[in-house]
Amino acid sequence: MILLEGYVLGQDRNDMNVVTHIYKGDFNDPGLPMCARGWNRANGKEYSIFRGNVGNVDVCRVCIRRMCAGKPGIKSRKRKTKWL
Ligand SMILES: [Zn+2]
Repeated sequence: MILLEGYVLGQDRNDMNVVTHIYKGDFNDPGLPMCARGWNRANGKEYSIFRGNVGNVDVCRVCIRRMCAGKPGIKSRKRKTKWL
């Protein structure tokens, strides 16, 4: 997978066995995730990631597709998350 310029990978800090999402930003400011599941904390209000890291499974297909299509990042919305 080629990560386009202006994007950064973000691995869930609590679970290395979930897909890595892509964030539209850079290492200092990851910005918005490219899919809603990138909001992995606080019921979709926050995220906690290892920037620039990939875990034990692949990168999120939805994020890859949206990045390649030049789509915008996803604003936070309420959704159930495993971690608060
Ligand atoms: Zn994703």
